[in-house]
Amino acid sequence: MRIAVLGGGISGTALARLLAGDGHDAVVLEKTERAGGLCQSSRFGEFTFDRAGGHILFSRDQRVLDWQLARCGGEAGTVKTVRNTKIRWHDRWVPYPFENGVGHLPQAAIVECVAGYVEAYAGRRAGAPCPANFHDWVLWRMGEGFAQHFMLPYNRKIWECDLHRLSSGWVAGRVPEAPIEDILKSAIGVDTEGYTHQSVFWFPREGGFETLVRGTVEGGGFELRTGVAIERVERRGTQFAVDGEAFDLVVNTVPLPQIADAIAEIPEPIRADIRQLRPISLVNLMIGVRLDEPLPPLSWIYLPFPEQGPTNRVTYFSNYSPTNAPAGHGSFLAEVTHRGDLKPDAAWAREVVAALGRAGILVPENVVLLEWCDNEFAYIDQDLEFAARIARVREWFDHSGYVTFGRFGRYEYHNSDQCIARAMQVAEHIRQIASTGEPARPAFE
Ligand SMILES: Cc1cc2nc3c(=O)[nH]c(=O)nc-3n(C[C@H](O)[C@H](O)[C@H](O)COP(=O)(O)OP(=O)(O)OC[C@H]3O[C@@H](n4cnc5c(N)ncnc54)[C@H](O)[C@@H]3O)c2cc1C
Repeated sequence: MRIAVLGGGISGTALARLLAGDGHDAVVLEKTERAGGLCQSSRFGEFTFDRAGGHILFSRDQRVLDWQLARCGGEAGTVKTVRNTKIRWHDRWVPYPFENGVGHLPQAAIVECVAGYVEAYAGRRAGAPCPANFHDWVLWRMGEGFAQHFMLPYNRKIWECDLHRLSSGWVAGRVPEAPIEDILKSAIGVDTEGYTHQSVFWFPREGGFETLVRGTVEGGGFELRTGVAIERVERRGTQFAVDGEAFDLVVNTVPLPQIADAIAEIPEPIRADIRQLRPISLVNLMIGVRLDEPLPPLSWIYLPFPEQGPTNRVTYFSNYSPTNAPAGHGSFLAEVTHRGDLKPDAAWAREVVAALGRAGILVPENVVLLEWCDNEFAYIDQDLEFAARIARVREWFDHSGYVTFGRFGRYEYHNSDQCIARAMQVAEHIRQIASTGEPARPAFE
């Protein structure tokens, strides 16, 4: 089959590689000059940085992890790291997840956290229903102490809104849920490990996270066209046309609001839903520093408090691979989310760095490189109407003959490994269409 894949991020390129492996003629159409999307990296002198914040290779799905590592040159091509993440809690370093690190707080805060957790635990045991909004979910799940000392300030920073407006639906599996035994152990000083599926991770030795996409494109057996502005996608009988060129099938991975205008047959109510699928944007500051002494062996840290500046997370990027920064230097990524209202400039960037200096993360005078990248589509704004809205959009696509997937192609809160798992599902779906010739059932039933 001849298949058009719209968008050349990891979703689009992984799918095209799988399709080519099955003998299909796959063409990836990418708007920008290079494949990669959110996985792109950039080189500045001898520094390499990821453009959309800190990315790591990990997966709960061994088949997908093996696939990712193979694209990055296997063991020799990657650096394996034992995760070491912390929260910068005022002047302390508290291990992450916060519930597992509670024993590192001052005594009064430990008591507030544990008392609140026990109260919330008892409430749930007594049948308190799971709240629909995220603010109340935090109190219901973790209690007042954990909420005030980390969860609420941190989440207000990253989501940039009143947390009552957000749905609690996205939380499962994302916000670590520690068993009560772990919290009690941690409170009396016995360290416990949370979020264990991510306790070891990998990173490409050379070229930043984009190496994953380059390794997917190279030898992939498909055609990648870059700099393509898609204007019209439509069905013609049993076939499809993309700007007049004929294909047997079209698979979309482009963020839906960026492609909806081109797909002629989307009905107006679905278009209206797509217009409401708003992203949270991310400015990623790329910071190179001269080092007087090696960086602490941290992977990344969370910054929950306003006095630490607008950054919510800092990645100790040169710790991921020694090739990310030149000798005698280190590098950081500082992530700042916004809702389209931030216009970063040099003065703003220097203020962010100054706040990181005050928080004890880096020495501003030692900064030798400061760049930034604004990513419009970074996180999903999961407000209270999101679930119903995206269900209608997916329903339409799944019965339209088009396939759509990807972080913003389907608005699933997916990391690259889950995008690849989805690509594998789509490839299997297309295998079935090709072998039976039957009209497709939805790929994601
Ligand atoms: C802060 C942050 C941290 C993350 N950390 C991790 C991590 O540690 N590990 C991990 O695995 N994942 C991580 N992710 C997730 C990962 O970046 C995404 O899951 C993945 O990159 C999504 O790939 P995609 O191809 O679905 O979408 P995208 O990368 O968004 O690709 C979509 C592509 O479509 C193109 N496009 C847009 N409009 C058009 C058009 N009109 N025509 C043609 N092409 C178009 C874009 O240029 C882009 O190349 C993180 C994401 C963020 C934001």
